[in-house]
Parts: sequence; C-alpha cells; structure tokens
Amino acid sequence: MNSRSTISIAYDHPNTTQTSCSTAHAWAKRPREPEPEEKVALIANIKRMLKEQDAVLVSHYYVHPDLQDLAEATGGIVSDSLDMANFSHQHPAKTIVVAGVRFMGETAKILNPEKRVLMPDLAAECSLDLGCPADEFNAFCDAHPDRTVVVYANTSAAVKARADWMVTSSIALPIVQHLKERGEKILWAPDRHLGGYIQDKTGADMLLWQGSCIVHDEYKAQELLALKAAHPHALVLVHPESPRAVVQLADVVGSTSQLIKAAQQSIAQIFIVATDNGILHRMRTLCPDKLFLEAPTAGKGATCKSCSHCPWMAMNGLINLAEVLEKGNNEIHVDAAVIPRAVKPIQRMLDFAQMIKLPTRSIGNA
Ligand code: SF4
Repeated sequence: MNSRSTISIAYDHPNTTQTSCSTAHAWAKRPREPEPEEKVALIANIKRMLKEQDAVLVSHYYVHPDLQDLAEATGGIVSDSLDMANFSHQHPAKTIVVAGVRFMGETAKILNPEKRVLMPDLAAECSLDLGCPADEFNAFCDAHPDRTVVVYANTSAAVKARADWMVTSSIALPIVQHLKERGEKILWAPDRHLGGYIQDKTGADMLLWQGSCIVHDEYKAQELLALKAAHPHALVLVHPESPRAVVQLADVVGSTSQLIKAAQQSIAQIFIVATDNGILHRMRTLCPDKLFLEAPTAGKGATCKSCSHCPWMAMNGLINLAEVLEKGNNEIHVDAAVIPRAVKPIQRMLDFAQMIKLPTRSIGNA
C-alpha cells in the first residue's frame, strides 16, 4: 500500500486557539509535595503498609521520582507499560498498587482479576485513552471487518476487548511486522504518530485512528534542530509517540525502556530526550556522569502546559499513595464480562514477547 490510510475521528484534544492548558483540572489535582520530615514518615509508613497488606508497588518511569525510588526499594518495579503488565502478572502479591495512569491499573486488573488493584488517583487519565471512546471505536472496527485490530496499551478495557492484539511501544514493531508477513491488514488505534512510525518502518497496510499524546505532540522539530546545533555531539533519543518530523531527527527511536538502555550503552556524554521528563530521574540515576537535556516544546504558544510532563502522571504522589493504602479506596474495577475478552489481546502480546525472547524485566531483577 503506497498511500497512507487514515481516518479522522474527532476527539477531545487541546484547543489550538487557547493559550492556557486544557488539562488544568489534572494539574489542579497534583498532590501536595510533602515537607522533608513528613516525607520520611510517609515513606516509612508506606513501606510498612505494603508489607502488612502483601502489596507491591508498580511505578511508571513518568511518575514522581519518590514513587520510582520507592518501587525499587520495596521489591516492586519502575518500568514501561510492557514490564509493568508482565511484572504484575507474575508477582505473587495479593494487592498491586499502580503508580501511573488508569489504563495501566486496568491492565493489571485484567491480568489479575482475583487481586486487588489500587491507584493513588483514579482520575489519572491519558489523552490517548480519552480520545478513543469504545462506542466510536467499535463503529470504526465494524466498518472495517477485514482488518486485524491492533490497539496500543493506552486504551480502556472496553477498547482492548474489541482488539485482536494489544501492543506497547516496546513490542509494536515486531508484532506489526509479524502480522504483515502473515498478509494481514491492520486497523490501528489510537496513537497516530506511533502508528505512522510503524507504518513507515514496516510498510504494513495500516488504517490509523487519529489520537495523540498531549505531551509528545508538543515536541517541535525546528527547535530540536537548533538544540542539536548547539550540542553537535549530543545523541537525540525520541519516543515514537512524537510527531514524524521530530522522529526523523532522532538517533534512537524507542520505548522508555529502550531509550534508557540506549543512554546507558552509548558512549555519548550528552543526550537530548524527547519523552516525558519524568524519565530523566531514571536516566540520571543510572548514568550520573552524563548530561540529559529535555527536547524543546512549543514554549509560550503551546496548546498544553508544554512542560514535557504528563498532567495525569503528575497526579501520583506520596500523600495519596499513603492514603490509598490506609483507606483501601481507589480500587480498580473492570466489568467481569469485559475481562475475558480484554485479556486475550494482552496475553497474545505477552506470549509473543516470550516467543521472540524480548528482554523484559522479571521478578527478582527489578
Ligand atoms: S504521557 Fe501521554 S501517552 Fe503517557 S499517559 Fe500521559 S497523555 Fe497518555
């Protein structure tokens, strides 16, 4: 297929005519930063409650550094959504506490319906998930019954229930390549940039839903070129949820885990990073002698807060994590009728990862 197959679906994206951040409600719910003494007490309290409740903390690279460090220190994991799903599936704890956004909690619940899954704030959403409502997505699928439905992890349980495959950014490329080799035509949702990148790399016949991530959408190619010129020896690391013009300037394109690995393995000393700046904590921890710069966003004219940080990821903090363990509230529930259908595309991905021996971080080496 030579021309790009796309379909435009209206969705709740920041209004380009406004100057303020359309996700202000999420920023407003950002938990208070505890004072140093309070923080020490909170961490001790959370550690105690995790142990008492047979609970494990699973944190994404984009959440507050305190929650990343705490996950590591308590035998949990800090990672990308593929490893988070894998880890929660394998870990024996009775309760999984997911510091991330809602679809991550739902994925943990779908894979572990018998376990209790808690989140610091259930209102932590994702623009990709919000931009792909299940009823519109079902209509899209109904209109293209000849296509294999591949959805990104950043979707609701109801959308996953309609899919043949779920993918994360770590594994999307080999799965689509595999489907292409089997002669399958693909219906892809919801991220148009990641879908376009995979279409460019594989030449697969893909019909793309037109969603995007409000954080990655803001990286700007011209400004990145200028930053590259100022740091000619820097390696540019880009997440494929970024616009194509930005991806084309990358030295390495990959998932959060793949970008961290590239930073560790490269001999470069300076890196320009185009993904949520929550990842910089991990990069700086693992590579303390290297310099990490944030890729430029649109600055004052941006449609979102343009701070390279997800407003929903920022809703996770020590205070609401402690509260959720104390009260046992904010439990994730997924419709029991949806779980058997939603688990299939996720399990298919996990089995495929195992088959191709995709390195994932397992229990014990987190
Ligand atoms: S950074 Fe983007 S893709 Fe990730 S949770 Fe936030 S809005 Fe969704």
